[in-house]
Amino acid sequence: MKISVNDQCPCHSGKKYKKCCQPYHKGVIPANATLLMRSRYSAFVLRNARYIISTTHPDNTDFTNDIKQWEEDIFGFCDNINFDGLKILEFIDGDSEAYVQFDEILSGAHFIEKSRFLKEEGRWLYESGVFE
Ligand SMILES: [Zn+2]
Repeated sequence: MKISVNDQCPCHSGKKYKKCCQPYHKGVIPANATLLMRSRYSAFVLRNARYIISTTHPDNTDFTNDIKQWEEDIFGFCDNINFDGLKILEFIDGDSEAYVQFDEILSGAHFIEKSRFLKEEGRWLYESGVFE
């Protein structure tokens, strides 16, 4: 999916892409785990596999050094899902560990997920997520 910088951000924030997740996709470090979570969600919508990979913690079960295969897996996921909605339910911040609970609508179905993020060298990374 291609969007213009003035389009609504795919993370469903109601803001323009250029005022929301685009800066993170261009290299700005998200200040907290919620911003990272939103920018990963919009990266899935935009098929930005590089961003997903670069913000995944090495302890994540999807983590692999086979970048080519990992990208293919991400594209496969993105192409088969409609990202219909995102609402942050709870954000538990910390110095090096944070949790974000959110309600996402994927292809019309609601999922409540709680994601765990770890901070490594000043950058938040997605470590794991559980569906509730
Ligand atoms: Zn956004």
